Amino acid sequence: MEQPNGPALRAIGTTAAEFERDLVSNLYFERGTTMESASAQDVYQSLAVTVRDRLVDRRARTATAHQAANPRCVYYLSAEYMLGRQLRQNLQYTGTEEVARDVLKGLGVSLDEIADFDVEPSLGNGGLGRLAACLLDALATADIPAVGYGIRYDLGLFRQAIVDGAQVERPDDWAFDGSPWEFPQQDDRQAVGFYGRVEVEAGRRRWIPEETVLGEPSHMLVPGYGTQTVNIVRLWRARADSDAFNLADFAAGRSAEAVQEVLRSENISKVLYPADSTEFGRELRLKQQYFLVSCSLWDIVRRFHLRNSDWTVFADKTVIQLNDTHPALAVPELMRLLVDEYELDWDTAWSITRRTFAYTCHTLLPEALETWPVALFERLLPRHLEIVYAINQTHLDEVESRFPGDGDLRRRLSLIQEEPERRIRMAHLAVVGSHAVNGVAELHSRLLAETTLADFARLWPERFRNVTNGVSPRRFLRLANPRLAALISERLGGEGWLTDLDQLRGLAALAGDSEFQRRWRVVKRDNKLDLAAYVRAATGVVLDPDALCDVHVKRFHEYKRQLLKLLHVITLHDRLRADPGADVPRTVVFAGKAAPSYHAVKRIIQLINGVAKVVNADPAVAGRLTVVFLPDYNVTRAELIVPAADLSEQISLAGKEASGTGNMKLALNGAVTVGTLDGANIELRDRVGADNFFLFGVDAACAAEVRRGDYRPGEIAGSDPELAAALAAIADGRYGAGFGDVLDTLLGRDEYLTLADYRAYLDAQDAAAAAWRDPARWTAMSIRNTAHCGFFSADRTVADYRDRIWHADPVPVPPR
Ligand SMILES: *Cc1c(COP(=O)(O)O)cnc(C)c1O
Repeated sequence: MEQPNGPALRAIGTTAAEFERDLVSNLYFERGTTMESASAQDVYQSLAVTVRDRLVDRRARTATAHQAANPRCVYYLSAEYMLGRQLRQNLQYTGTEEVARDVLKGLGVSLDEIADFDVEPSLGNGGLGRLAACLLDALATADIPAVGYGIRYDLGLFRQAIVDGAQVERPDDWAFDGSPWEFPQQDDRQAVGFYGRVEVEAGRRRWIPEETVLGEPSHMLVPGYGTQTVNIVRLWRARADSDAFNLADFAAGRSAEAVQEVLRSENISKVLYPADSTEFGRELRLKQQYFLVSCSLWDIVRRFHLRNSDWTVFADKTVIQLNDTHPALAVPELMRLLVDEYELDWDTAWSITRRTFAYTCHTLLPEALETWPVALFERLLPRHLEIVYAINQTHLDEVESRFPGDGDLRRRLSLIQEEPERRIRMAHLAVVGSHAVNGVAELHSRLLAETTLADFARLWPERFRNVTNGVSPRRFLRLANPRLAALISERLGGEGWLTDLDQLRGLAALAGDSEFQRRWRVVKRDNKLDLAAYVRAATGVVLDPDALCDVHVKRFHEYKRQLLKLLHVITLHDRLRADPGADVPRTVVFAGKAAPSYHAVKRIIQLINGVAKVVNADPAVAGRLTVVFLPDYNVTRAELIVPAADLSEQISLAGKEASGTGNMKLALNGAVTVGTLDGANIELRDRVGADNFFLFGVDAACAAEVRRGDYRPGEIAGSDPELAAALAAIADGRYGAGFGDVLDTLLGRDEYLTLADYRAYLDAQDAAAAAWRDPARWTAMSIRNTAHCGFFSADRTVADYRDRIWHADPVPVPPR
């Protein structure tokens, strides 16, 4: 992008007059209307463009600075991004929020009403996608040149509705009204091949694909906070060739046949994680992965060649971070480009490839490690299979030379799993093709090296490192919780903490200050009123702003143990019916999506709604206990729930959660955690202090031991009357008939040790309730949580990646 001449350019001023002129002008020229006849949608779109234009100017200067500096760039490859709404973020990052509010007010419109038209792009699923967004935010804030690559899903994951207590998936057509934050770049379309065969031409192997799909990029701007840098996230959308529509079929009345080829191509970017229960779905997922990788690597190479000509410096100028294994095909794809297309020799290409890639692993669950059947892989990507085999050969030769004669080790380390069917192990491919492999919390990185990837850690210990996740304080404190942000800035004397989160430590001295505590509680209460208004409109349930707000919000998975929380709720209900003083007044908020094919947790959602219905209708506990399931958890919903939370449920079975970032967001907003020794909970507890954290449950080592031993959940249920009563309540049908399957998983294997941790969990909850009864004590705990969360800033995470893996220098962008 060339920098246009400053003086001739409009749309960069931040005065009210300039802002108003641009807003009205955008309304006129972009929407073809005037303030008098504009709809709210017109005003929203014009406002968005007005704000966006201010970032475009920074983006132009950023691109110029990057071109001149020719720095090492960070390319982040991720199947998911959960960017959140853009309007308020971009107003704040351009410093135009107040101006916009005033200008709109002068025009007779409220910014808050207009801001509600902003739609969150539905491009992600959970923590992994939000991490990607937080890292991009922190990268731009640190002035590090970076591009995020992803897929522009038309319909995202799904919009969750609750019908008769059950999750129903609806298409999430997030761009239905137009998405003003996106810049389509039709002229940069890139062809992606699939299927076909490999031919040998003058001694070189070359892939001749049979089918071609076009990748059409659009980008969204990723501004840094308090800096001029604006990076981009580049999203690919699948398009058929303009010839693909079959006019002859259409003319003959065969309209479905006419669009068949168009649909086959465009299905690739329809939804995130298409159901993989059919062959069609599995193939589509693999196609998506290759589509992302092929388009993105082409773009990365193009960018490299804009500034360099010599392949030997490629890895010095390029680091590609693989966000989990979804983009691991980038390893053989880069090899294919270098060897087949650019005709480098294999060893040189392999050395460049390894130095370029780094891999972040996000799981410990062996069942979550992705593999692809060789047969499918071969059909879709025949040349890549050859390359994977060749990489594997070199790799296994190295293993053999280091550990001669250890056939078992070679089998375990191979990129190919042989039994029961031949499959490609994507995590192994990612490890072998990368110079750095990281876990996302201390415990996770240790367990990765000791269990899941132990053989690789023995082979290449120097590749393994930890980078604990973090969250953006801009997004999750200033944007989500403006009241608390204002109070903090007032007490700390400025907003420096927004880019130096350790400054929050200054609040610790105020933890016992009764006037500060009072204001802290006012903020929390106001946030609860906001949440209550939303919950009432969305579900009809009325929340008490003075009750303890106890939140379990995250994707549904058995290991995250929503069911443990629910057993607690059922027990509380029983206790409160006998003794109204048995607990503090409490609101329990559940939110989260279940994977459409994950039947067991969809049943838990139903059970939660069944329990909520009974509890909320029971006059015996009115005003003491309220349970709500808030549908369609996403970043926008998180921004509403997190600031209102008093108690943060982080109760996964120890050894299962890689890190968690919900735990960090909630603590940052003054929620006290009840949690297990899992993921980043451990580091969180170390920092906020054991006195400000309610710990319970088995640790990872103990959980592994119980699992290996003769664990009998039935005996635990038999010897704990309250637990037995809770299970009996589920069994007797009062929350809806037929939850026998849920009981069976608990009383059968109880894979996630829910019953083993039940009693300890209830004790921890009783301790939390006791602390809540003493507002001064609770508020001090809450303040200390916020005060000691500095470590969990995504800025620190990015600094760790930079120092330990990327070695990329900042490139400051000069102001205009
Ligand atoms: C932070 C976040 C997550 C991750 O939550 P965990 O508790 O770490 O699993 C998931 N979804 C959304 C919308 C988030 O903002």
